[in-house]
Amino acid sequence: MTDRLHIVGGGMAGSEAAWQAAQQGIDVVIHEMRPTVGTFAHQTGNLAEMVCSNSFRSDDDEQNAVGLLHWEMRAAGGLIMSAADAHRLPAGGALAVDRDPFAETVTARLHAHPRVSVTAEEVTELPRDGHWIFATGPLTSPALGAAIQAETGAEALAFFDAIAPIVYAETIDMSRAWMQSRYDKGETEEERTAYLNCPMDRDQYEAFIDALLAADKTEFHEGETATYFDGCLPIEVMAERGRETLRHGPMKPVGLTNPHQPDVKPHAVVQLRRDNALGTLYNIVGFQTKMKYGAQTAVFKTIPGLEEASFARLGGIHRNTFLNSPTLLDAQMRLKSRPNIRFAGQITGVEGYVESAAMGLLAGRLAAAEIQGRTLPEVPQDSAMGALIHHITGGAEAKTFQPMNVNFGLFRPVDGLKGGRRGRKDRYKAYTDRAKEAWSAWLTEAENK
Ligand SMILES: Cc1cc2nc3c(=O)[nH]c(=O)nc-3n(C[C@H](O)[C@H](O)[C@H](O)COP(=O)(O)OP(=O)(O)OC[C@H]3O[C@@H](n4cnc5c(N)ncnc54)[C@H](O)[C@@H]3O)c2cc1C
Repeated sequence: MTDRLHIVGGGMAGSEAAWQAAQQGIDVVIHEMRPTVGTFAHQTGNLAEMVCSNSFRSDDDEQNAVGLLHWEMRAAGGLIMSAADAHRLPAGGALAVDRDPFAETVTARLHAHPRVSVTAEEVTELPRDGHWIFATGPLTSPALGAAIQAETGAEALAFFDAIAPIVYAETIDMSRAWMQSRYDKGETEEERTAYLNCPMDRDQYEAFIDALLAADKTEFHEGETATYFDGCLPIEVMAERGRETLRHGPMKPVGLTNPHQPDVKPHAVVQLRRDNALGTLYNIVGFQTKMKYGAQTAVFKTIPGLEEASFARLGGIHRNTFLNSPTLLDAQMRLKSRPNIRFAGQITGVEGYVESAAMGLLAGRLAAAEIQGRTLPEVPQDSAMGALIHHITGGAEAKTFQPMNVNFGLFRPVDGLKGGRRGRKDRYKAYTDRAKEAWSAWLTEAENK
C-alpha cells in the first residue's frame, strides 16, 4: 500500500502522471469515476478524453510557449504527446488530434502497462495514508469537491473561474497610461503605484459601451449555471444593465489624476493590476467576460493605451474547480497541510489540455522520486514546465489567482535583448533555447539522482 501511488482522475493529468510514475518503476492505481459516474462534458469512459476542441494549439517550439511545452513533454517521454503525435490531423502549425483514437491509445497503453491498474470508482475523501495524486480536473465530482473544501477552507477552492484578460506589460502604451492606485492608497511607493490606468473621454466611453453591446458572446455549456454571477458579472452584462453601470463600477474615474493631462478629468478609467511577481503581466480589473475571443481583442484594443496590446490570455467564465495553489501547494505540488497528497492538472490552476498534462507529468515524476527516497532537483524556472509550476505555487498573486495557460509572460527576461514588438522574434527564440537547455539538463540530472 505505502509504496504504491494512487492517482484519482484519469484525464490529461492523471494519465500522464500514471505513465511517468510507472515508467520510473512505481506501481500505480488509477481511480477514475467514469463511466460509473459521469460529468456534463465527458462522453465516454476513455482515459484522457478531450472534452471540447481537438487542438493542442501551436506546435512551434521556437516561437510559442505551448509549442515549447510540447517539446519538453516529448523530451520526457510523455504518453499524452506520443499519442497526440500518433493521431495528428493536418492543421497548419497547430497540433490537432483525432480525439477518439487518441484517447483509446492512451487508455490501451495504460491498461497494457504491467505497473498500472485502473479501477472505475469515485473517490470522495482525501485519504490520510499512502501516496496520492488528485487530478480530478475542472469537473471534480461534487462529493470530492466538498471534501477538498473541508480541508482547504471555502475561500481556497473555487468552482468557477472568472478570468479577466491578461496583457503583456511591455505592450501597454505608457505615453497614454500611468501608474497610480486609487486615492494614492498604500504604505509604500510600490503600493501607491500598483495599478496601471487607461483614461477615456466621454466619446471613447460611449463607443466602448456600444462595442460591448454589439460584440459576439459565447453561450454557456449545458450544465453550467449562471448562479455564480454575483460578484463577477461579465462586463457586457453590466453594460446591458445600463450605459453608466461600468462607470460606477470597475471603470469609475475617481481618485485618479492623469499625469499626461492633469487638468482633464477622465470620464472613465480602465484599471490594470499586476498579475505576477515578475511584473510582466497585468490583468484588466473587473473585466471578466463571455465575449468571443475575436470580439474581445477588437473591443479591448479600443481602450486608450491598449491599442497595440498583446494578450497573454483572454477573458472567460467557466465551470472550473481549482485550488488557490499559491497558498495551498508547496513547490513539490503537495498540499502543505497533508503532504501525502499532491494535486495535478487543471485543478492546480493551470488551464488547457497541454498545461494539465504537463503538470501531471511533473507530479508523477515528483511522487515517484519521493516513493523511491530520491529528491529531484528543483524544476528549472527557465523551462516552460518550471515557469508554470513556479507561477502556480508561488509566482502568481494569491489574492487574484485565476487559472493560467503557459505564455512567455511567465518567463524571466533574458538579459541584453531588445524589448517591444520588434525584438519579439529574437526574444522568443532566446526563451525557447534557454528553456530547452534547462529542461534537458534537469531531465539528465533527475535520471541520475
Ligand atoms: C466544458 C469544458 C470545455 C473545455 N474545453 C477545452 C478546450 O477546448 N481546450 C483545452 O485545452 N481545454 C479545455 N477545457 C479544459 C480541460 O478540461 C482541461 O484542459 C483538461 O481536460 C484538464 O485536464 P485534467 O486532467 O486536469 O482534467 P480532466 O481531463 O477533466 O480529467 C479529470 C478526470 O477526473 C475524473 N474525476 C473527477 N472527479 C473524480 C472523483 N471524485 N473520483 C474519480 N475520478 C474523478 C473525471 O471523470 C476526469 O476523467 C475544457 C473544460 C471544460 C469543463
